[in-house]
Amino acid sequence: MAAISAVFQSLKTGDHVILPDDVYFNLNLLMKEVFSRWGLSYSFVNMSDIEAVSNVLTQHTRLIWIESPSNPLLKISDIQGLSKLAHAHQILIAVDNTWPTPVLQNPLDLGADIVVHSTTKYLGGHSDVLGGCIILKESGALAHRIQSIQVQMGAIPSPFDCWLISRGIQTLHLRVNKQTENAQKLADWLVQHPKVQQVLYPGLKDHPNHEIAAQQMLGGFGGMLSLLINGDEVQTLSIANKLRLFTQATSLGGVESLVEHRKSVEGAESQTPINLLRLSLGIEHIEDLIDDWKQALI
Ligand SMILES: *Cc1c(COP(=O)(O)O)cnc(C)c1O
Repeated sequence: MAAISAVFQSLKTGDHVILPDDVYFNLNLLMKEVFSRWGLSYSFVNMSDIEAVSNVLTQHTRLIWIESPSNPLLKISDIQGLSKLAHAHQILIAVDNTWPTPVLQNPLDLGADIVVHSTTKYLGGHSDVLGGCIILKESGALAHRIQSIQVQMGAIPSPFDCWLISRGIQTLHLRVNKQTENAQKLADWLVQHPKVQQVLYPGLKDHPNHEIAAQQMLGGFGGMLSLLINGDEVQTLSIANKLRLFTQATSLGGVESLVEHRKSVEGAESQTPINLLRLSLGIEHIEDLIDDWKQALI
């Protein structure tokens, strides 16, 4: 969140930004509770719909923020298409690439100007460190401004945390490829189960933006998926409680599989369906993971 904040702090009072309507929940709060008071104006739109984005552009728009796949609905935004639109209006494109990781998606190659990662997740990979990073396409005035904010305001990781993250990155490709394989296999298994209403995963052919995801996620569709249970909130929570290998916890991207009822975490204002469970696949054996779901869905 400190890395994300530094990008927004590089803007100035009166600037306008466009964000996805299902953007990472804390960024939504950050805009409403902090940056609005600093005079940044913002629009939340369906980022999968380029025309909707184009309709909210103003002469003050300076930044379009993309998260693809999104959290927790796994919506896909067309990074290349949005970059073209933005650049035609001298607007910056920033992509939160935490979920796909650099193993699967490279937004700078697709036209983005800024990429942000929560290194707490896949880059660290072991759920034992907090951090974030910002990658810019060009060195120059913007990079300098952001770096100055990071250093002068002091929200930077400790040397030990940097060491943990660097060590995590050494196995990033192995972990992400395994997590992606597990997610795809579990998604394929879950879709056929009568207690599952819908599986939200861009690797499924019936995902509304499967084609765009396939074009921009070159190494696979990632280790995150959400599913909607055929049932109410109580039934959904009871299934989460029955899982034994999937630990109920927030965060994601570690070697162990996690499950989370996002609505409980996000609170009353959240638009997340009450019957949604979000999964972060770990590197366990896929048969053990499927067996866990078999017994939980009985
Ligand atoms: C977790 C997360 C963040 C925030 O990261 P922290 O390291 O918890 O501050 C931002 N964006 C996405 C997509 C995330 O999953």
